[in-house]
Amino acid sequence: MKINTYRTILEQMWQKDKKCFASDAEFPPHCLRCGKPLNKRLVVNALSRYADVHICEDCGMDEALRDACGQVLPMWEWYALSYKRDMPFHCDGPALTTDCSFNHIYTGSKKLFPFNHLEHPVSEMVYSRSDYDGHKWWTTWHHSDGERPTTELATEIDQFTEALFQLPEFKTLDTMRCFCRASAQPTSESTEFNLYAATEHFYIWLRMITRPRDYNLYCHFYLKETADGSK
Ligand SMILES: [Zn+2]
Repeated sequence: MKINTYRTILEQMWQKDKKCFASDAEFPPHCLRCGKPLNKRLVVNALSRYADVHICEDCGMDEALRDACGQVLPMWEWYALSYKRDMPFHCDGPALTTDCSFNHIYTGSKKLFPFNHLEHPVSEMVYSRSDYDGHKWWTTWHHSDGERPTTELATEIDQFTEALFQLPEFKTLDTMRCFCRASAQPTSESTEFNLYAATEHFYIWLRMITRPRDYNLYCHFYLKETADGSK
């Protein structure tokens, strides 16, 4: 399984746009960040700090200024990813986005997990809790008392989790913190962020906590069949 982020989606777009520059660009593609035409000469454009793509000179300057004062432009506001662009983007595999397509599960029936007093949506089958100790990630799994995952479902959960930790964004707590600033949904707590994804059988909520010496990542897996059956 390959998991997409806003970064990987932009990099895929750029792989196509870049071909226009084979011998300078007669009709340069638009800057993925602001939508203005790029300079005809590839080297005159700037390399983004957040994805391996070229952006226009103005955007290069804007990124540097925003970076200096910690005011990163969220990647979902980039021209190429925002609603302003007519063409929807396509990608193979699940994408981590700030749009939650399964809000209905949070207002439906609830249940308790063993040894846990918090209520979870009834469709939640399992969640993982990870923390980064300065060297590596440690993960524990928490199963609902209800339906146990079949081999097929367990494989899907394992593949998602493995692919997640293979992303450079989840290499360390620091990389996850940088990723959250530009690519995750902020919350009222400045060190907590959300992202959402879906696989064949699951809706997935990633809750990221960027504080050191705390639990840093929760992955909640909700069975679509149960979630949508109770819609
Ligand atoms: Zn630009």
